[in-house]
Amino acid sequence: MELEYKAKNSFENLMKSEKEEMLEFAKEYIDFLNYGVTERRCVAYGIKKAEENGFVPLDSLDTLKPGDRVYSVNRDKNIILAVIGKNPVEKGVNILGAHIDSPRLDLKPMPLYEDSKIAYLKTHYYGGIKKYQWTTIPMGLYGKVVTENGEVDIEIDGEDYALVISDLLPHLASEQMKKTMSEGIEGEQLNLIAGSYTENSEESLKTKILQLLNDKYGIIEEDFISSELEAVPAIKARDVGLDRSIVGGYGQDDRVCAYTGLRAIFDCNKIPEYTAVCVWVDKEEIGSMGNTGMQSRYTENVIAQLIEKQTDSYNDLMLRRAISSSNCISADVAAAFDPSFPSPYEKSNSAYFGRGVVIEKYVGARGKSGSNDASAEFMGKIRKMLNDSSVVWQFGELGKIDGGGGGTVSQYVANLNCNVIDSGVALLSMHSPFELASKGDIYMAYKAYKAFFNEFGK
Ligand code: MN
Ligand code: MN
Repeated sequence: MELEYKAKNSFENLMKSEKEEMLEFAKEYIDFLNYGVTERRCVAYGIKKAEENGFVPLDSLDTLKPGDRVYSVNRDKNIILAVIGKNPVEKGVNILGAHIDSPRLDLKPMPLYEDSKIAYLKTHYYGGIKKYQWTTIPMGLYGKVVTENGEVDIEIDGEDYALVISDLLPHLASEQMKKTMSEGIEGEQLNLIAGSYTENSEESLKTKILQLLNDKYGIIEEDFISSELEAVPAIKARDVGLDRSIVGGYGQDDRVCAYTGLRAIFDCNKIPEYTAVCVWVDKEEIGSMGNTGMQSRYTENVIAQLIEKQTDSYNDLMLRRAISSSNCISADVAAAFDPSFPSPYEKSNSAYFGRGVVIEKYVGARGKSGSNDASAEFMGKIRKMLNDSSVVWQFGELGKIDGGGGGTVSQYVANLNCNVIDSGVALLSMHSPFELASKGDIYMAYKAYKAFFNEFGK
């Protein structure tokens, strides 16, 4: 019996076949990151892969039986996948929730202007960012414009040509460099350079860019009002490190947990004991608000539909019962201890890079405020499940006491009265344009989530 807790290593004791599977998994994950740069694109990816893996639209089935694989889409920004279990849904389900929105720069409703013969697109940042990190890097632009006659998708990947935010040269930056890092670049300076070419000096550059947009997409300036255009880093995800043990890429918060959750439900048992439910939500980075965030009724509504398709006499109490008996992993990333910046972390209760999937009893700030605080009983069951399934795991808190903290979707799921725990991959450089995750940890998250769907509640 080992008395003292010993940290583990994600790469330790992997069988050769598992090592190969881990590397292959990371490759496929990188492809997903490069495609799924917005929540809409993630959902499109999810639908395609769901259908390839035998899932059918929930609305296409009138009744559900164990083993059925179904999915449901909400407003192109959420997808829920379910594998119907042996037990009726009313007995509770195993839910994994992850978010597919990531920090980015949204175009303002009236974005285009010109100044000193440079055309710009104004942005309003989405989610928590260190603004200086988003200048002088190539950016792509993705999204939807709704015109009076239809819809136009815009997909500028930033490979061939990119948009970019400028920053001051060091020679002239002495005033700027005296400012704090949060003030050095201001929100209203996050303007994307969109052009500079006119044939003569009288010509309006703004009109030229509008013409170009009209020729290419058939849109006019007023159409921006009814658009959702997201500027995201045009930096391809790739292996990082001389040993290539790390995945670097934009949007890993929280697409790393979304992807591992998706793969886990694809690969779970044909008929799990309890119905497995994988939920991809939007809007986590701005408080899980709105009809596509975790605070929306969407997840409840889908569970109600699952029950309704299993019974002749649906009533609301059945939904209440189902949810109260459900268990949930709020799958979201954790902050990995960063040896170059040790001061905000408390070393004995920090998550570490490469030490397995993280389980967090609570996140939150100022005396655990704004946090789901998982019960000892639920933590105990999860811990045992992970050990029984040979998953390398660790625990973590988000920084020192009063040093920060954060929120996830866990509190909103817990409010429905089910058991919820936060669990995910520990990232370095979280919320930056190029986040880092250990390939071993990514694989362990996948194993953990699969074990949850297959084993939990047995
Ligand atoms: Mn997150
Ligand atoms: Mn986040």
